[in-house]
Amino acid sequence: MTLDIARIRKDFPILEQTVYNKPLIYFDSAASSQKPLQVLKKEEQLHLEYYGNIHRGAHFLADKATIAYEAVRDQLKKFVNAANREEIIFTKGTTESINLVAFSFGEAFIEAGDELIVSEMEHHANIVPWQMMAQRKGAKIRVLPFDNDGRLMIEKLDELITEKTKLIAVAHVANTLGTINPVDKIIEKAHAKGVKVLVDGAQAVKHLPVDVQALDTDFYVFSAHKMYGPNGVGVLYGKKELLDQMPPYQGGGEMISEVSFEKTTFNDLPYKFEAGTPHITGVVAFGEAISYLENLGVAEVARYEHELLQYATQKLLSIQGMTIYGTQPEKSGVITFNIEGIHSFDISTMLDKMGIAVRSGRLCADTVMQHYGVSGTIRISFAVYNTFDEIDQFIVALKKLVMMLS
Ligand code: PMP
Repeated sequence: MTLDIARIRKDFPILEQTVYNKPLIYFDSAASSQKPLQVLKKEEQLHLEYYGNIHRGAHFLADKATIAYEAVRDQLKKFVNAANREEIIFTKGTTESINLVAFSFGEAFIEAGDELIVSEMEHHANIVPWQMMAQRKGAKIRVLPFDNDGRLMIEKLDELITEKTKLIAVAHVANTLGTINPVDKIIEKAHAKGVKVLVDGAQAVKHLPVDVQALDTDFYVFSAHKMYGPNGVGVLYGKKELLDQMPPYQGGGEMISEVSFEKTTFNDLPYKFEAGTPHITGVVAFGEAISYLENLGVAEVARYEHELLQYATQKLLSIQGMTIYGTQPEKSGVITFNIEGIHSFDISTMLDKMGIAVRSGRLCADTVMQHYGVSGTIRISFAVYNTFDEIDQFIVALKKLVMMLS
């Protein structure tokens, strides 16, 4: 099946506008994707027709909302091929999912002197929570480096993993370099030595079919807002046997079984990790986003985005002074670059005035910036609604401003 991009774009009316009197070109979907009408309407429908607080309600609206919310858990179980629905925990996003694991896994399994391995190409969300946990528990973080082409040097794991290593945290797809990391091999190496693995799938799930059982990953985390769903919703997949042993992350309603001032007992999975009223409408609309993506076909979308990536890469390389960070053949829809002699911020500001939305700066990845010795970069990123024509217009705009600024 070939995707009908013109038809797909009709689902995203936000893209039809002009900004600064120029047609909008949205090349910032790695930061957050736009939402199709189907998702927006689902959220509105819940608000208009059957909104109520979930799980605790003994009335029609609450029951209907609960059924819709829990149905999305089943949908996600299928989407990532988890073995049990209890292994799908709803959070606010990737960041909260990682903080949850860093805290609860830390409490259950980390002792002073233990070690964690974090890759050098991580988003801050997959570094800082581990640092906080390491500080609290007296553990140490060791870094898995990448080479200048953006390849994770997984051969180094053989020396980095010691008998003290407890967990490896790594991105499935890096938000700066776009590298699709061989997480299956990393997990294999880790498990051979009894080490657990958390895979940050924030940039991966909308681009690659993910099967958590085939990967045998211990934890897999992602956000709805990067995959055509609402913001404020994320997922933590974790193996039941591990989640069962981990203490709750937050206390409150729903996560308890019984409360007294003498003793509180906790609820079963997944509710043990879902304290308080969650983003009910967001979760339900997330289900619609997954259906939307599945109807298009994740593999089909990935193939199209890869074509956009290759096309844009070739065009960018024709610009003098161009450096692209991350040139792995196994790469997903982001291109991070700099043009010699021009500040990244100047480029993004001028592109914005030309109607083109890109990301610039440190991209929440200081360790990647440090690796290349740069203070900032420009990043363009694609989603299924982008077109080759937009890339052409972007290249014309970029060439124009290079002439003006250099
Ligand atoms: N990890 C990666 C690889 C990301 O790209 C992002 C978002 N930029 C995050 C984590 C954090 O995601 P969120 O802000 O949705 O929690």
